[in-house]
Amino acid sequence: MFNGRRAAHHGAVRARYRFHRRQSYRFAVLSGVLGQQQSYERHLVSSPTGPGWIVDRHQFDSMLLAQCHHYQVRVHWQATLDHVHRQADDHWLLTFKHTDPPDIRARFVIDASGRARALTKQLGINSLQLDKMVASCCHIENDNQHFTGTAHIASDVQGWWYYAKYSPLRGSLCYFSDSDLGLPTSPEALLSQAAKQTPLVNILAGTRPIKHTFKRCAAYSSALQDCTGHHWLAVGDAAVSFDPLSSYGMTSALSGAFYASQAVMRFFNGQPEYLQVYQSLIQRNYVSYLARREQEYTKINPELSLFWQRRHS
Ligand SMILES: Cc1cc2nc3c(=O)[nH]c(=O)nc-3n(C[C@H](O)[C@H](O)[C@H](O)COP(=O)(O)OP(=O)(O)OC[C@H]3O[C@@H](n4cnc5c(N)ncnc54)[C@H](O)[C@@H]3O)c2cc1C
Repeated sequence: MFNGRRAAHHGAVRARYRFHRRQSYRFAVLSGVLGQQQSYERHLVSSPTGPGWIVDRHQFDSMLLAQCHHYQVRVHWQATLDHVHRQADDHWLLTFKHTDPPDIRARFVIDASGRARALTKQLGINSLQLDKMVASCCHIENDNQHFTGTAHIASDVQGWWYYAKYSPLRGSLCYFSDSDLGLPTSPEALLSQAAKQTPLVNILAGTRPIKHTFKRCAAYSSALQDCTGHHWLAVGDAAVSFDPLSSYGMTSALSGAFYASQAVMRFFNGQPEYLQVYQSLIQRNYVSYLARREQEYTKINPELSLFWQRRHS
């Protein structure tokens, strides 16, 4: 149910925006002795969920915004939720960090604020966090045409690397590790460390970091105890967040949003029980992800380091 084709269909991405079909990805597995690397190529065309997409996130978000305008959805751009309060008449009152927008009253609210969980934290909904993965990321200038369409994933001692070109001249480079294990703290350090990885040496030769895009962000797996309740629900990473190794967060967020919209429409048509159906779907999906995550991580020798040991327990 949660697959790439459906996600692409929802956003109508094919016709209007430039996305690259992801043909394959390489996972370089460090096997036992450091430096002796095997790599393999996984062609997503043979995946049961269909081929993947390499997305230019900026274009993708612009597309979503354009759809909102097309359907006359009122958008308060860059408004940060400050406080939420349930009123006696079962409406919510939302207040924001700045005066624009002014307070908003709503019968139903959806938390789509990613791992920030801006709404559900205030409602006191517990979440279960599986690990403490974080990422150091930077966009890279790369005019080498040869590698477009392939995402490269390489394991390292205390984490793993991801690199993919999302446009003819730019790529995205990320290093993932646990927050207590030390990650590159500058764009230069990130690129020079990546360029020492055997599977990435040729791919990153002659590239330059786009310095202002360097950032560190949370990348842990987690799930809300309840992703729906009295006149609210959570979608995307706010409901459940995935290890980026799964390349599953976007697909799950888009598909989840589709099912959430069905549940909310039914709620307003006198069938509130569909909120529970939505919750079961999200939770079932997360449980099956956990099994796949374990399978993927068992490909690496746990004796390599604390990072890999943690993924085996
Ligand atoms: C480094 C990294 C690499 C990844 N790579 C992949 C990949 O290759 N493939 C894949 O499918 N997924 C990947 N993911 C996961 C993917 O980015 C997420 O699953 C996806 O973005 C989830 O979408 P979302 O809308 O739920 O959350 P987000 O995209 O996180 O959006 C949440 C939004 O809420 C806003 N917000 C936060 N707090 C507030 C507040 N108080 N008030 C108002 N707004 C607020 C944020 O500014 C943000 O715009 C990756 C994640 C990371 C961190």
